[in-house]
Amino acid sequence: MKAEIIAVGSELLLGEIANTNAQYLSEWLASCGIDVHYHSVVGDNEARMTDVFKQAQARTDLLVITGGLGPTEDDLTKEVLAKLLGRRLQVDEVAYNRIEGFLKTRGRMMTDNEKKQALVIEGADVLSNGAGLAPGMSLKTADHQYILLPGVPREMKQIIADHFDHLFGQETIKSRTLRFFGIGESALNDRLTDLIRSSQNPSIAPYAELAEVRLRLTAKAAQEQVAIEMLDGLERLVLAEVEDYFYGYGETSLPEVVLRTCEEAGVTLAAAESLTGGAFASGLTDIAGASNSFRGGAVVYDDAAKRNLLSVSETLLREQTAVSADVAIAMAEGARRLYQSNLAIALTGEAGPTSNSGKAVGTVYCALATPDGTEVVEFTYPAFDRGMIRLRSVKDAYFLLLK
Ligand code: ATP
Ligand code: MG
Repeated sequence: MKAEIIAVGSELLLGEIANTNAQYLSEWLASCGIDVHYHSVVGDNEARMTDVFKQAQARTDLLVITGGLGPTEDDLTKEVLAKLLGRRLQVDEVAYNRIEGFLKTRGRMMTDNEKKQALVIEGADVLSNGAGLAPGMSLKTADHQYILLPGVPREMKQIIADHFDHLFGQETIKSRTLRFFGIGESALNDRLTDLIRSSQNPSIAPYAELAEVRLRLTAKAAQEQVAIEMLDGLERLVLAEVEDYFYGYGETSLPEVVLRTCEEAGVTLAAAESLTGGAFASGLTDIAGASNSFRGGAVVYDDAAKRNLLSVSETLLREQTAVSADVAIAMAEGARRLYQSNLAIALTGEAGPTSNSGKAVGTVYCALATPDGTEVVEFTYPAFDRGMIRLRSVKDAYFLLLK
């Protein structure tokens, strides 16, 4: 099935809002194994909407349309599509009663505009809107399927979640996301080229994220159990190639996996941060329950702070500079003492744009102090992006803890 996503709204063309709905819908359709061939954006204008709908009819089977289902004059989506298909609009009782009930709680009568939200295209399946008043629609004709969704992202997502199984027939679609760190999207693609090419069902789709890569595996089958087994099989093949970079499933994150791993092992963790200014600790404390294993972190930005708080020796700082393997080691050991933790991470480096220490911008030392000794790793990142150097440092430090 070939799909086109059509976002309706002049505010999108004016650049007032970003078309995040299209991105969400694309990801959703990909996870259903449906190929999205086109994205279109059109303003709230009958003639141009008609053109865009006709164009999509000519080149795709599934039209997913978002926006323009609301009560105002410029909300035209169902009116334009109904006219194009030669169908009437009719009142959906359930939606009507919902709107009436909602207005009653506010002590108001229904206006014509509000009534308009209860109109649906004749013959369409009505997709109740659990987060708002205007329902969505799914309409099948001889040649096409049309899915109409509200523009408000929260409402659109709610309808998809509530009607997911119903939208594309009987087949079960299961997907699973594997998360990787320490390998770029293109390197991961290279390692998996043959597998990605040969996998139609189940399929593999890579997505690059900030310094990370996700792989989404999707399987379609008549039964759920069969789809799950297909995913298991494909996952084994993927991990046989790139297991070293794999760290978790689904919506998990590196700090979350770090905390869970520490908790399971019964160890505590602390941090000493220079160039990352507390971002390592902040990422951990974003997660509820961090206090079970995270003891604390020191932001020791200048030399005096490293000396006074963590007893990093003055000679070391003078002779080796703060951006050095030995200072990273001393910081990690100092943090381990200060916070009485089993493990401590230290980060020191040159985030740029200019170098204070004489070391190249993008040079970072990350030390891990443990009861058995301290190891240190040197990272060299591309020098042009201070934010990226700091972000990669933090993520590399998390990943070091998982090895
Ligand atoms: P409403 O009942 O609010 O009128 P609607 O279905 O008519 O809903 P629109 O009027 O097109 O939807 O959009 C409502 C709001 O939803 C927009 O102001 C915008 O904030 C958001 N929105 C619409 N389309 C998109 C999109 N493609 N991506 C992200 N946000 C969007
Ligand atoms: Mg609207």
